[in-house]
Amino acid sequence: MKAVRFDAWKTRPALVDVERPVPGPGEVLLKVAGSGACHSDVALYAIFDQDIAMPQLRPSYILGHEVTGWIEETGPGVTGLEKGAAYMVYAARGCGHCAACARGEDTLCDNVATMTSLGSGLGLDGGMAEYMTVPVRNLVPLGDADPIAAAPLVDAGLTAYHAVKLALPQLSAGGRTALVIGLGGVGQLAVQILGSMTAATVYATDLKEEATALAAGRGAVIVEQGEDQAARIREATGGRGVDAVFDLVGSAETIALAQAVVAVRGRITVVGLAGGRTDWGFYTTPFEAELTGTYMGTLEELHELAALYRDGRLEVDVTPYALDDALDAYARLETGTMLGRAVIVPHGEIAPADAGAAAEEVPATV
Ligand SMILES: [Zn+2]
Ligand SMILES: [Zn+2]
Repeated sequence: MKAVRFDAWKTRPALVDVERPVPGPGEVLLKVAGSGACHSDVALYAIFDQDIAMPQLRPSYILGHEVTGWIEETGPGVTGLEKGAAYMVYAARGCGHCAACARGEDTLCDNVATMTSLGSGLGLDGGMAEYMTVPVRNLVPLGDADPIAAAPLVDAGLTAYHAVKLALPQLSAGGRTALVIGLGGVGQLAVQILGSMTAATVYATDLKEEATALAAGRGAVIVEQGEDQAARIREATGGRGVDAVFDLVGSAETIALAQAVVAVRGRITVVGLAGGRTDWGFYTTPFEAELTGTYMGTLEELHELAALYRDGRLEVDVTPYALDDALDAYARLETGTMLGRAVIVPHGEIAPADAGAAAEEVPATV
């Protein structure tokens, strides 16, 4: 079968022919429906090396940690699952026997230091391929919902859901406010998840008008860019500030904006990977405000997110690509010219109107 394999640091992945995997005990073989191309894949092959990456992420393996598909075969001992049924794949893989894993928090596994991978497409073979094997525990049912558009929910959606869920203490009361900074794929989902899970007024901001228009259609109150932006946000909240700020960019500038607008006892969640740093001080931060990060989400939360999606509460913006064009999708991700999430669709035809434009020849070294 064809697969997109990451073979060496600072080197673009390659489209290769590999053996179709065979499901082991307790696993299924999934026929891949959709496989999201994620910015963290680009970080893996373009930015990381043996000095800065966690050792669990070292190549070589098939990429793809945002995967959906249909059961094709079941391995020994697997019962109660039907061929053709659609599932999402929870990507994180912990040790399976610590307290964190018992809670479905494989992302926070106590034994990560002794693990050889962080998950499928993250040290283990992922789903940027025609087929992949998945332990049954990691399958989250999709029912009749569209599995291709669901692919980005596995990471982008789960990350937004987890961040919102952890901020519910700030948001679960009347008159509360949220701010979403950055309205790419994760930001668009954050706006919708906030709308579904809370009664908060959701403010949102982005440099791109296209992105703010989409978010406005999804219920966000758009805050224009500009030097007095923080003052305008504070004014909009009656001077109190924002109860929960979600920074999907994570630059020094956006974290500064978050700190300038957060309310007393508010929460700032830095989700974006821009690597910005900030100063924190008792007198420069509102009393009891929290500043935190977030990493993906739990297996149980992916089931909850799937329920929202199956209820029709989430629109996911995707651009489908054939598996043969996966490297073009990554090239567009690198240049920031991707609209919505690129989802690789290994089986079936992609209508020309939907397909992402082919990129130029892609050199192998980054
Ligand atoms: Zn990702
Ligand atoms: Zn564990």
